[in-house]
Amino acid sequence: MSYFNELGLAEPILRALQVKGYTDPSPIQRKAIPSLLEGRDLLGIAQTGTGKTAAFSLPSLHRLANDPQPRKNAGCRMLVLSPTRELAAQIADNMRGYAKFLNLSIQCVFGGVPAGKQARALERGTDILVATPGRLLDLIDQRALTLRHVEIFVLDEADQMMDLGFIVPLKRVAALLPKERQSLFFSATMPQAIAELGKQFINNPVKVEVAPQSSTAERVEQYATFINQAEKQALLTIRLREGLAPDAAEQAEHGAIDRALVFTRTKHGADRVVRHLTAAGIPAAAIHGNKSQAQRTAALGGFRQGTVRVLVATDIAARGIDVSGVSHVYNFEIPNVPEQYVHRIGRTARAGADGVAISFVAPDEKPYIRDIERLTRVKLEALPLPEDFQKQASRLPAPSRKAPAQPQGGRKPNSGKQGSGKPRGQQGQGQGRGSNRDSERRHDRPAGERHGEHRAEAGSEGGERKRRFRPRGPKGMGAHKNKVRRTS
Ligand code: AMP
Repeated sequence: MSYFNELGLAEPILRALQVKGYTDPSPIQRKAIPSLLEGRDLLGIAQTGTGKTAAFSLPSLHRLANDPQPRKNAGCRMLVLSPTRELAAQIADNMRGYAKFLNLSIQCVFGGVPAGKQARALERGTDILVATPGRLLDLIDQRALTLRHVEIFVLDEADQMMDLGFIVPLKRVAALLPKERQSLFFSATMPQAIAELGKQFINNPVKVEVAPQSSTAERVEQYATFINQAEKQALLTIRLREGLAPDAAEQAEHGAIDRALVFTRTKHGADRVVRHLTAAGIPAAAIHGNKSQAQRTAALGGFRQGTVRVLVATDIAARGIDVSGVSHVYNFEIPNVPEQYVHRIGRTARAGADGVAISFVAPDEKPYIRDIERLTRVKLEALPLPEDFQKQASRLPAPSRKAPAQPQGGRKPNSGKQGSGKPRGQQGQGQGRGSNRDSERRHDRPAGERHGEHRAEAGSEGGERKRRFRPRGPKGMGAHKNKVRRTS
């Protein structure tokens, strides 16, 4: 008998878990489910990837299924709030899986798509609603939704909500919820401001904390290459080529790439990186707030299926995305909020697997690295530039002005090798400039993608230290576990 059986979860839920192949609960599930089944409020300090969706879904589904109620027009019994569309869709998908054998309806609403259809779908009410705050309030304002019947309220990724300026909408939601309810409040970090926000929602909660940030960080091999901003594109192209090549397992310095996530600070920066990669014959897609919902879904779908193995993302777009098999994270630009770095590298090393994170650090980004190392208590290992970096860089093709942002695939990752063009180092791309111009103020089009101005400076120090790294095994993981050191 599995631990899930011992918890006394309803039989249809156990069957769904069997279909999913879950045999043992993750630590957060083990800690949270019993109290949630009792109806307690919960304060969960956990990141996506820890199994928190099942931790809040399974007991909630159990409680709803055990107390069937007729649906109320425009009402819902359980409300899950998520900061981003992708995460909302992912939560709803997971919940549908867990509720597969239950007679409960699950709807998901978020911005970027017409509201009319969502409003119509809510007319007769739903058991469970997963929503982003902006669209939720729009639907409430249109009288297509009422929160009067909410029995269970889940606020996910509270710290991200706060970063995105969702405080005012959340306060509005808090005022609309019935007093009598069960509330669950999740956040990856719990600074004072988030704890204060939590007080508005939860009452005498059970506190559950899993995988403190430092331990997630410890599972990832973390490297830093010191480089000029203007040379980063060439380095990225070279590193990706190396890692995606058929002989990468033997040859690539930091292992074969299964899937790679590249983080830029700005949406324009993400598009620019994709254009360069495409020109170099590396299929890549971008995901960020300026993309239409259909483009975002297509990019994520291609990445999930492995047809596009490089996804270039801004922090917000990538937050919470659960794609297994992300072997490498490249920080094309370093986040100035150290927690963001932890979220980024948390995209790899999921579900117990190890991953590799490589940060490209421009001279003016060094202070950010110091803050990150202080937070994670992990010292980044210096990864020198490839020995023939300048030579390789000088051979890279320049992107055409209007290269497609979403490549159609077809070309092998290695096929653009002999292209000619201006060395990247002379192109002065200045990624990240003007990021504030990209700002969006819509509720679910977070303003939080703005991370301030970022300057590219001259004076590389990346090529100075040259050291060979051992070739890696087929998965490329684990051989350099010792490269990650605790600093305290
Ligand atoms: P989450 O943190 O909810 O996004 O979950 C991360 C991943 O772990 C998802 O792909 C889940 O399907 C998976 N997962 C959650 N709970 C379990 C479990 N008990 N056993 C195996 N996989 C799980």
